[in-house]
Amino acid sequence: MAPVGLVVVSHSRALARAAVALAQEMVHGKQLRIAVAAGLDETTFGTDASQIVDAITSAEQGAGVVVLMDLGSAVLSAELALELIDDDVRDRVVLCPAPLVEGLVVAAVAAAGGATIDEVVAEAGGALAGKAGQLGEVADAGAAGTPVDDGLVGTFTVENPHGLHARPAARLVQEVRHRDTRVLLRNVRTDSEWVDATSLSKIATLGVRKGDTVELRVSGSRAAETLEHVLALAARNFDESAESATAVASAPVARQPIGAVAGLGIGPARSARQSPIEVPDEPAADPATEWRRLGKAIATVRRDISAQRAHTARDVGEAEAGIFDAHLLLLDDAELLDAARTRIDDGSSAAAGWSAAVSALAGRFAALTDPYLQARAADVTAVGDQVLRAMLGVAPGTAGSGVLIADDLTPGEAAALDPAQVVAVLMAYGSPHAHNVILLRAKNIPTIVGAGPDVLTVAEGATVAVDGTRGEYLVDPPADVRARFLEQVHVLEDRRRAAHARSDRPAVTTDGVTVGVGANIGSVDDARAAAAHGADFAGLVRTEFLFLGRPDAPSVDEQVAVYRKIAEALDGRRVTLRTLDVGGDKPLEFAPGPAELNPFLGVRGIRMSLQHPQLLSDQLLAMALVAQHTPVSVMFPMVSTLDELLAARQLFDDAVAKAGPAPAGLQVGIMIEVPAAALKSAALAPHVDFMSIGTNDLTQYALAADRGNDAVATIGDSYDPGLLALIRATCAGAQGRASVSVCGEFAADERAAGLLIGLGVDALSVTPPAVPAVKEAVRAVDRASAQELAVRAVAADSADGVRELLG
Ligand code: PEP
Ligand code: MG
Repeated sequence: MAPVGLVVVSHSRALARAAVALAQEMVHGKQLRIAVAAGLDETTFGTDASQIVDAITSAEQGAGVVVLMDLGSAVLSAELALELIDDDVRDRVVLCPAPLVEGLVVAAVAAAGGATIDEVVAEAGGALAGKAGQLGEVADAGAAGTPVDDGLVGTFTVENPHGLHARPAARLVQEVRHRDTRVLLRNVRTDSEWVDATSLSKIATLGVRKGDTVELRVSGSRAAETLEHVLALAARNFDESAESATAVASAPVARQPIGAVAGLGIGPARSARQSPIEVPDEPAADPATEWRRLGKAIATVRRDISAQRAHTARDVGEAEAGIFDAHLLLLDDAELLDAARTRIDDGSSAAAGWSAAVSALAGRFAALTDPYLQARAADVTAVGDQVLRAMLGVAPGTAGSGVLIADDLTPGEAAALDPAQVVAVLMAYGSPHAHNVILLRAKNIPTIVGAGPDVLTVAEGATVAVDGTRGEYLVDPPADVRARFLEQVHVLEDRRRAAHARSDRPAVTTDGVTVGVGANIGSVDDARAAAAHGADFAGLVRTEFLFLGRPDAPSVDEQVAVYRKIAEALDGRRVTLRTLDVGGDKPLEFAPGPAELNPFLGVRGIRMSLQHPQLLSDQLLAMALVAQHTPVSVMFPMVSTLDELLAARQLFDDAVAKAGPAPAGLQVGIMIEVPAAALKSAALAPHVDFMSIGTNDLTQYALAADRGNDAVATIGDSYDPGLLALIRATCAGAQGRASVSVCGEFAADERAAGLLIGLGVDALSVTPPAVPAVKEAVRAVDRASAQELAVRAVAADSADGVRELLG
């Protein structure tokens, strides 16, 4: 008889594979089928019921299957999977509550030894006994379910402009979900109930605003570590970038037509109206059958959203794609699923039960006072409708070409719009805070929200002119107005098209100086976007994405594989790989440092890497190996002193020697982010091939204005003449010794191109979608006049004075 099969369900594919490898070690080559259903892909955490069904099917050889899970949604997804598989198989499957690693190891040994399914489950169930005995404790001490009063307590104050809204809340959920701990939260200001931190919807309904204090209680085997991580995450504002936070902060609530995405568009009205989804008034089948229907629909929608996420990451960028993570979490939300299940168990059909649970949750969001959280009601309804459509087989409405008129759009619908077809969007409702608008902005589709229900009565095909900059629209404008509008549209459109058409070509100033325009990237998807937008090179690869949020450092091989993928996506273009730029504000899980009072002035960037020489040497070796096949520039961040540079260079030279024959195209450089380094550039330049000015940090250090603090945002202005003087000093010191580029956000400001070239900068590196327009801006520059302008700009008395000079 074949042995009992095993299935490992985990949020992490890497974790599951490693656990299986460990278990296989214990069975000394005996035949055993262990299938893995883990992660949404190689690197994305998550669980998927349909994957679990496939794993169970492949592990089953007649003797039954024992399923071991990690925690949270892994258990829910496994339960859902059980509902989805055939009845005869289901009878031979057991979901085992044993701890994943210990349980898997003993289950594997038992199964390989020919144990029955009951024996395997019993073995796995007692898996903690050995360890507990060794530690002199009772087996279940500290396991999940420990009363919350026994937990550790902490508090944090939320500084995000919109409080714990969807993105930071999703980040918090992700942080606690994969830990073997229970985390409860409450809002101290409202004296709220305690809620489970693994439920996005429960967190959001706490209504946590900026400035609120949140109390948390953490219990379980890794409580102290989890508490530390959550507090560090809160101190980092839940990794919400200042940019995405302020994009939201500056927009008012839609009460009248609001220009949500700037630009002009004119064309025939096309209705995107989705007829409301009718939930059929049919008698329900038995609860198990109805629950299975819901599970199938959720699995379908999860696949669709994951695909949309991948497309958005490729076409728009990783930051915008992150919007879909909140939607995926909603599909996984324990509270929403529990509410639907209760209704189904009480006799509702799947559609009716789900629809009621979704409406109740959306209603709770809509009742909150914070406008940003109110806008999340639309996300809940959108995801709910997507599931209903999948369940009932209702096709989504299709958008035609022209001006799209809609009551509102789901983020999925917004992500699917083709800017070549949809010249503008006019929405009756909606909010400029909503995720759909963020996506439309990234696609550059002029948009008005809050235009009122009257727009829904505009006749199909009527001409509509939309000015998304002013928030104005006209239906059937008179011929002369229409002609003028069209002319303006064409001018803008021609400019944009010309920029795109020429984006592959070099950017050359009117007096013949070629200025390289590269892209800043933080993932393989970004590298693809860089190539698609005509970047000449990757001027900054933020390698942090490979190191953060994991319990161990990536191996040299893993790093080589990822850097090679980036190089492949860039198809022979030079790749500037920046060594790890983390530290106090972005702690590494596997190399935590002491808490710092001023992390931005603490052990970050090269300082941190030099304190962990093996980590840096491994990274440099990986970079040197990649350089054997592709042009690579290695760049050290946050260099302040020549000694730091020399120490890093020594490790670099050692790594190059270890990697084999010295690659011809390998270059080494530093970032100029510290004012003192800018002023010492003549001393630093002889030791490098290039310098890249990081204006994001250089601005914050030059003006003593924290780059993440809204309250000092107007002080931290990159047009400040003091900052321009530092850029000029960097270029002057490097002249003839090393080239100088700018890779901070300032480089993406089209108005700044002439100024930077005039100050002596040789190349720019910007976010991928900005490449075509920045190249165009360079093409309009005359270097000689730009140099004169730069002299006057440095002498100006304020940032506004510089802007005035630029017109
Ligand atoms: C900068 O500081 O300008 C820069 C490009 O680095 P980062 O934004 O990654 O700190
Ligand atoms: Mg920086």
